[in-house]
Amino acid sequence: REELLKRIEKEIETKHVELLHLQFVDIEGALKQITVTSDQIDDVVEGNTMFDGSSITGFTPINNSDLYLLPDLESFVVLPWTETEGYSEARFLCSITNPDGTYFEGDPRSILKKTVDEAKEKGYSINVGPELEFFLFQTDDKGQPTKELHDLGGYFEPAPFDLGERVRLEVYLTLKKMGFTVEASHHEVAQSQHEIDFKFADALTTADDATTFKWVVKTIAQKFGLHATFMPKPIFGENGNGMHVNMSLFDEKAGENAFFDPTDERQLSQEAYQFIAGLLTHVPSFTAFTNPLVNSYKRLVPGYEAPCYIAWSSSNRSALVRIPANRGPATRVEIRCPDPSANPYYAFAAIAAAGLDGVENKLEAPEETELDIFSMEDEQRKEIGIDNLPTTLGESIQALESGKIGRKVLGDYAFNEYLSLKKAEWDSYRTAVTEWELERYQSKF
Ligand code: GLU
Ligand code: MG
Ligand code: MG
Repeated sequence: REELLKRIEKEIETKHVELLHLQFVDIEGALKQITVTSDQIDDVVEGNTMFDGSSITGFTPINNSDLYLLPDLESFVVLPWTETEGYSEARFLCSITNPDGTYFEGDPRSILKKTVDEAKEKGYSINVGPELEFFLFQTDDKGQPTKELHDLGGYFEPAPFDLGERVRLEVYLTLKKMGFTVEASHHEVAQSQHEIDFKFADALTTADDATTFKWVVKTIAQKFGLHATFMPKPIFGENGNGMHVNMSLFDEKAGENAFFDPTDERQLSQEAYQFIAGLLTHVPSFTAFTNPLVNSYKRLVPGYEAPCYIAWSSSNRSALVRIPANRGPATRVEIRCPDPSANPYYAFAAIAAAGLDGVENKLEAPEETELDIFSMEDEQRKEIGIDNLPTTLGESIQALESGKIGRKVLGDYAFNEYLSLKKAEWDSYRTAVTEWELERYQSKF
């Protein structure tokens, strides 16, 4: 810690860091920050920065609205886009504490840490690699997003069809300076849709990285006069934005990937099969985390590479859980339902908890599905026991409430906050009268 602190102080000096942004996330995973001057660094790292939690979604404190920010020293980074001659700004990601020094139970970072610690006790660390997709839209003269697309490119198309290359390059260069290892980027299937992938890491680091990633993409896009959106299904009839989550368990004692077993026909271990079984068993009760918006369920429909049925496969991309071909240390499961509007801390915690529950209770994975599930008849799917994912936020909320994963992972306080937030959102949508209804019914009835 001392060494890390020294390095931070040195960087503040050499890069002339003037401002420190103390960042945290609310219950929806939205990034928030308080900015202080860098000469307060000593106080800041002690966790002495107080803020009023009462206006933060999901932080409505029970009896006291004073909360404190405890910076994660490892998350210190100078923000490349603020750097000019003799000036720069930096940020810390923070955990949130109560006045008595205990962790605030509504803090998503602490909630994920709890799941990570529980896995540690069972001898595992959790590795996560996400794939976040986004759209670029034009902005108007006030800088607000419009519905106008930025390019008409398609899957893997290069320039001149892909007009997002320079944006993605700038995102890559920025992330690289911030310590990310960016692995690949490409134009995605839909017009104006892109993907940039960065290297996997432990679950907490990756949730931090996903949060930072979304912020950086939006910040850079804005510099190009564009708006980047991670909303799950911005355009009807086109592919939506997914956030496939690649996850594996690392066996700390054996010092190896717990999902790999060279002697198995698919080279998967018992733990891998049990983890898959846990995912398939619990998925309906955690889609309210991985697919948190009304709009999320407009992506989970047949025909757009997003899953809508509960099945797994070692290759088939129509399945909810796919096993990418890599083996050895890279053996992992890919769960394809999450979208990038998810709070990554809750999503990763819930996915891990579901999989670990499968391992703990030695759940048995069903047969893998090698057929294209989308082209099956309803009857055929029923026969082989393939259920639907929840089809609306309303269904997801019900499954969240009756399932055990959500309350276990979030704890009573955050769980109740989340539930009431989502119920209010669903009610607001359920009772709204939409353009679609007017078009369809107004003249006819
Ligand atoms: N955009 C697709 C989705 O909604 C995923 C496409 C892909 O395989 O990368 O999940
Ligand atoms: Mg993709
Ligand atoms: Mg993928």
